Amino acid sequence: MAVPQNRVTRSRRNMRRAHDSLVAGNPAECPNCGELKRPHHVCGACGHYDDREIVAQADEIDLDDEDAA
Ligand SMILES: [Zn+2]
Repeated sequence: MAVPQNRVTRSRRNMRRAHDSLVAGNPAECPNCGELKRPHHVCGACGHYDDREIVAQADEIDLDDEDAA
């Protein structure tokens, strides 16, 4: 098994990890519904892209549907 030849100091370890932080995304506002969405992606809220409806949305999801029971 490979074993490190030298101890990595706290300073060197932390210097290495200085570039490991995650950066926030760049959300853009959906021109159709105003919800924040990922750029160049279909809006997750309304299913629109470039003023066209790509993913059809159900009008309303009835959670307490009495007919199913
Ligand atoms: Zn939208």
